[in-house]
Amino acid sequence: MTATFPARFILVIAASPCPCAKTAGPAAECRCSPATRRRYLGRISGPLLDRIDVKIELHPAGRTGLLDNRGRAEPSQVVTGRVAAAREQAARRLAGTPWRLNAEIPGSELRRHWPPGPGALTDVERALERGQVSARGVAKVIRVAWTLADLTGTNRPGRAECDTALSLYLGVTR
Ligand SMILES: [Zn+2]
Repeated sequence: MTATFPARFILVIAASPCPCAKTAGPAAECRCSPATRRRYLGRISGPLLDRIDVKIELHPAGRTGLLDNRGRAEPSQVVTGRVAAAREQAARRLAGTPWRLNAEIPGSELRRHWPPGPGALTDVERALERGQVSARGVAKVIRVAWTLADLTGTNRPGRAECDTALSLYLGVTR
């Protein structure tokens, strides 16, 4: 049986790089073989990964790193202000449409009305040809590129925003 409920949510998931999770850090104790790691990460299905817009590899900060960063970390209030400004810019652009956020724009509408700048999708199209990104993934990359442009107050995403969005989608550290 399938039930459909109205829901708007943000899915945030985390995974360890291997079964023992002792992979990183100067005193790494991980003894998992590359094959074991591949098998472990392979348990996250491709169709699920395909639906996740942003994938980031994190490394343990360590005790000194944590203490160091405490003073330099940006206050949440500052980040909130930046997000609110980005959302306002998106809402202004989407005025007169049923959508308020980049995430809500259907792929077909996105390509028709809000394409990124000329040549901006060169690397994204190459990734599509190589099979690294699906058609659904391309739409996700474009939505994230618009959000990156909104965050910096840029009128339209260019190649830099699209390439960063592609890296985030693929989970590649640049
Ligand atoms: Zn391990």
